[in-house]
Amino acid sequence: MDEQQKVATHKLFINGDWQSASSEQTFFTHNPATETVLAEVARGDMADVEQAVVAARHALEGAWGRLKPKDRSRLLYAASRVILEHAEELALLETLDSGKPLPQARKEVVSTARYFEYYAGAADKIHGEQIPLGPGFVNFTIREPMGVTAHIVPWNKPLNILARSLAPALAAGNTAVIKPSELTPLTALKLAELLAGMGFPAGVVNVVTGYGEEAGAALAGHTDIDHITFTGSAATGRAVMKAAAEHIKPVVLELGGKSPLLVFADADLDVVVREAVKGIITNCGQMCSAGSRILVETAVKAPFLEKLTAAMQQIVIGPGVDSPDLGPLVSDIQYGRVANHIDIATSEGAHILYGGGRPPHLARGYFIEPTIFDNVLPDMYIAQQEVFGPVLAAITFQDEAEAVRIANKVPYGLVAGIFTNNINRALRLATRLQAGQVFINDFYTGDEETPFGGYGQSGFGREKGLAALHNYTQIKNVAIRVRA
Ligand code: NAD
Repeated sequence: MDEQQKVATHKLFINGDWQSASSEQTFFTHNPATETVLAEVARGDMADVEQAVVAARHALEGAWGRLKPKDRSRLLYAASRVILEHAEELALLETLDSGKPLPQARKEVVSTARYFEYYAGAADKIHGEQIPLGPGFVNFTIREPMGVTAHIVPWNKPLNILARSLAPALAAGNTAVIKPSELTPLTALKLAELLAGMGFPAGVVNVVTGYGEEAGAALAGHTDIDHITFTGSAATGRAVMKAAAEHIKPVVLELGGKSPLLVFADADLDVVVREAVKGIITNCGQMCSAGSRILVETAVKAPFLEKLTAAMQQIVIGPGVDSPDLGPLVSDIQYGRVANHIDIATSEGAHILYGGGRPPHLARGYFIEPTIFDNVLPDMYIAQQEVFGPVLAAITFQDEAEAVRIANKVPYGLVAGIFTNNINRALRLATRLQAGQVFINDFYTGDEETPFGGYGQSGFGREKGLAALHNYTQIKNVAIRVRA
């Protein structure tokens, strides 16, 4: 308790003001590398969500709604610059809150700034079209903002994923109510502070911290929001969609994955190893698009797994602030989930080729070794369900048809990697894999410009790129009869 009394207290950000939760309740967040308390945060609930939605509606109908698109654009460019000016502070905050290695946090902050820059460029180019109806008619379309948008954000890339939906929503003229994860709320609050300091009108961006079943559920079920972007687990996505259905609100769901890397015998195995390691250890495997299944052609399985194991042995594990390759998992609960996946895989007959436990040199923190499972069969739990940790399942295939069958036979379809030197095969498979993004001879390829989203239980709707603007605008058609 002494420890808890020393930490900073963070309030809700509503209508341009910092305020305590109306219940006066708070909760604590922890540093996953040390298991110590990091911050005390306001525990918002339905009453606070109500205030935030009212403020967002008011801003939409007031100062923000009256801004010209080019002025919104200038504000977003300025936001991008301010984020870069505070990059080190934001990155450190993210590392302390989520555990991720500092270099990864820095990259995510740069990408956060880039989302604002990219959509700043689009803010004054969101326009409709003229549709010819023949003599006597003029017809055109207008793309209007949706209105008050809700952003429910997970803990794995807290600031970056928030910016991914917030920047296009603001560019298109919407206002926002944000519910960050209760595990990692600090960078969303810092971003709100930065935006307020540079001239975004009060009420345009509101942050209600709190628990999912309280603040999150209140936001998802609110009658006066116009759109929900939810990023998180499939189970919560289902609950959010049900709440949205009650009031017929549109949703974008960005959910989990079980993404494959298809490794053919003609691939450059050193490249595959490098990309496979990146695909599973980035953010300690807590990536929706983690490459968590390695599908390898039987002919090269032995040399590939030998090289992969050797590469895993080089991975440096430690607290994120020390810039290791691999930081801790986000929480004790997540540690328990990952350990449970490892137990189930072992009990089903998969073989641990590397890792599988806590690194011996780290007594505190939610650290887990990078882990490779061999002898995995496509129907095993470890081959079907998202682990959200640094755990790879290696599965063999005989030919292209079998590789595609295994790749597609999971509930998810977020991304897929194809490794081959045969361009015809690569392009053939790119059309057959059920995934929102396909990478060829690389992994996590693409940027803020490239549309991202899922097939199947990975969700629907697309974020990033110009495609995301469709989430935050609706088209109105205006038809005019020109009378003589
Ligand atoms: P989660 O579903 O537990 O929580 C996500 C957010 O939803 C949090 O802010 C949480 O407080 C809130 N929430 C919880 N219950 C709610 C409810 N009943 N109503 C409304 N909101 C509620 O997910 P998580 O554990 O934070 O994140 C991990 C999951 O997110 C993984 O499955 C991962 O694959 C997925 N994810 C997907 C993407 C993507 O772009 N597709 C990106 C990152 C993470």
